[in-house]
Amino acid sequence: MQLLEERIRKDGIVKPGNILKVDSFLNHQMDIPFINELGKEFKRRFADAPITKILTIEASGIGIACLVAQHFNVPVVFAKKAQSLNLDGEMYCTKVQSFTHKRVYDVILSKKFLSAEDHVLIIDDFLANGCALQGLMEIVKESGAVLEGAGIVVEKGFQNGGDSLREQGIRVESLAIVDSMTDDSVSFRKDEWD
Ligand code: 5GP
Repeated sequence: MQLLEERIRKDGIVKPGNILKVDSFLNHQMDIPFINELGKEFKRRFADAPITKILTIEASGIGIACLVAQHFNVPVVFAKKAQSLNLDGEMYCTKVQSFTHKRVYDVILSKKFLSAEDHVLIIDDFLANGCALQGLMEIVKESGAVLEGAGIVVEKGFQNGGDSLREQGIRVESLAIVDSMTDDSVSFRKDEWD
């Protein structure tokens, strides 16, 4: 998506460890009209899918998911990172390895908010090795809901998460796919939608 690629080139900062910081407009300070445009684009790409719920993971996915959800007119539900588990059978539960914090989180979601009747679109800010998405997909599977696909703002195409999910048959729509990055440049995979 051209608008997003231009913004990453202008305001993105490449950090050591293959981290792209976009915190001035996406996941710390948030440029709402800009993210709203991303929401419109996700709606365009998933216009054929009968989505009933948008699923994300705290914390940085939540704000983005809310703006996206306005275009689908469905609720957002987010998986919570739990410090200690006090399970009472009313929660879906899985583990996620965090790319940025290098630790494993327990992740939970109330069974009240996802069921076999749902058609789910997962939304997240980044896709790197795919651990966050795999965790969310396990929750969807446990709930019996239909996974319609995943909408990702920035996929790091040089890490294998996106490709391996596509090989599993998951519909992954990334608005920008970074093929490589250096301290002062970011290059993107050609986008079939532009
Ligand atoms: P994965 O689970 O796919 O390895 O990593 C995805 C998660 O890690 C995202 O939810 C995002 O929060 C974080 N992440 C991965 N790579 C980056 C990055 O380059 N920049 C930022 N800001 N977050 C990242």
